[in-house]
Amino acid sequence: MNGSTPAGADGPAHVLVDGVEKTYLKKGGAPVHALRPVRLDLRRGEFLSLVGPSGCGKTTLLMIMAGLLDASGGTVSLDGAPVRAGDPRISVAFQQPTLLRWRTVWDNVILPSKIMGRLDAAARTRAEELLELTGLASFKKHYPHELSGGMQQRAAIARSLVSQPDLLLMDEPFAALDEFTREKLNDELLRLWSGREMTVVFVTHNISEAVYLSDRVAIMAPRPGRLIEVTDVPLARPRTPAIRGDEDYFRRVRDTRALLDHTSDESSDRQEAGDAR
Ligand code: ADP
Ligand code: MG
Repeated sequence: MNGSTPAGADGPAHVLVDGVEKTYLKKGGAPVHALRPVRLDLRRGEFLSLVGPSGCGKTTLLMIMAGLLDASGGTVSLDGAPVRAGDPRISVAFQQPTLLRWRTVWDNVILPSKIMGRLDAAARTRAEELLELTGLASFKKHYPHELSGGMQQRAAIARSLVSQPDLLLMDEPFAALDEFTREKLNDELLRLWSGREMTVVFVTHNISEAVYLSDRVAIMAPRPGRLIEVTDVPLARPRTPAIRGDEDYFRRVRDTRALLDHTSDESSDRQEAGDAR
């Protein structure tokens, strides 16, 4: 089953990406058509991954969804209201944990709430709980450089959840980590997500990771960047490390990879045809 509309959804979409496209204009240079119009809707609490090779517009789409980049056309709305820069309903996590190196883990984790003037007792309690859940409780007074890469990314994820976002946007958050740490963080992320009414859009070019985590996987292709297909991942939840050995999981990873290979072949054919003209 494929489609850009989640199965079983009723009522208006929670997140609606409606005809979003992006052309980067450079002074004196040719315009870059980074993203052809994308339509995507997500239900509340859904976990969706965007996968595709470098340059297919994943970051562009994610930044537009965050309200941090203007689209050339189309709209993104959350519960019917357009997203905007600094939207308190949205948190973003990047590949680099972007912790301030001169602040302790605790100060980093509470910083966004502080900046937004929302650092009340409840936010402090949530920060404490999140540090506990991410195994960082005893590292509160440490500085980022005293932590491993995995721990830094955990701190960044804790930070992104203190504000209780409706929508968490993650751009290859685990790409710089070793496989072992990445798998552990996948499980931690699922644990953090499952207890919340939070929708996640997760960018990765790791197909196994996308299938492991997601309710649906959106496949993108480059030149020009576009959304090709959205596939369901009807594997039971909770997902646990044991499913990594399951035939069903394996088959889904293989099918998703085949779709991606197919689309990149098409893209390079198109590119070659274009080059020949
Ligand atoms: P991905 O995250 O999938 O690797 P991006 O969204 O970063 O893709 O980029 C999509 C396309 O847009 C690429 O061809 C990239 O070179 C181009 N692009 C990204 N940002 C800019 C920019 N600020 N100016 C011009 N072109 C850009
Ligand atoms: Mg990117």
